Amino acid sequence: MTLELNGKTALITAAANGIGRASAEALAARGAAVIATDINAEGLASLASDQITTHQLDVLDAEAVEALIAEIPPADILVNCAGWVHDGTILDCDDAVWDRSFDLNAKALFRLTKAVLPGMLEKRAGSIINIASIVSSEKGAPRRFAYGASKAAIIGMTKAIAADFVKDGIRCNAICPGTVQSPSLEDRLHATGDFDKALAAFKSRQPMGRLGRPEEIAEMVCYLAGDLAAFTTGQAFAVDGGWSI
Ligand code: NAD
Repeated sequence: MTLELNGKTALITAAANGIGRASAEALAARGAAVIATDINAEGLASLASDQITTHQLDVLDAEAVEALIAEIPPADILVNCAGWVHDGTILDCDDAVWDRSFDLNAKALFRLTKAVLPGMLEKRAGSIINIASIVSSEKGAPRRFAYGASKAAIIGMTKAIAADFVKDGIRCNAICPGTVQSPSLEDRLHATGDFDKALAAFKSRQPMGRLGRPEEIAEMVCYLAGDLAAFTTGQAFAVDGGWSI
């Protein structure tokens, strides 16, 4: 078996930047027909190619999700990548922060997966890949209360979906990245007011002494998407530079 995805259709959210973008490119490079979605139309425009079609999609918009699924071919691979980080402890978390964290990180994933799953069940084949975080049920980190809680929910959903559909040809796995260089990470570093100090602090959490690259997460996405991972379901894979050792 080789890591080829020819003939497969992959649907991915948050594909304009960071891990989602690298994953869309890597899946396409392996031969998948990629349907790349994001709220950011400008970012998507520079991603489009023969192998990658793009659709503007806000994953929080339930009607838009239903409309897109009705419009596109049934997906063999679903990568749920959209997410949001709130910086704060439980004392900084109000209902609005809690709701946004769970709406974007958890509820949107539930809705999209529920919409895509019937098409996979018809084919009796499908791989669902959820981008969680090592900051979840896997590990606590300072000032990541709502984020960690909502990312832990992703791991719970991953295992539940895997258990429910293991006999139907559906696999569902989660990836738990450590800190990865991405536009939103840069924004968070700038927001601290001291970019260099914040960057050094993030790097020092990683035993390898560096941040991850989106492409390093994308390789795990490709592995889980394809037949090489045919015996693998319901797992949460850390790709975290050793943070969780
Ligand atoms: P990013 O945060 O830089 O980009 C996120 C993308 O999501 C953007 O293109 C944005 O337009 C899109 N987006 C935001 N809201 C959306 C919505 N409502 N609907 C559709 N798209 C929306 O990318 P990243 O840092 O690579 O993060 C991607 C995923 O990986 C997230 O779920 C994040 O929590 C997770 N993650 C990231 C890191 C990291 O250090 N970067 C670590 C662990 C987990």
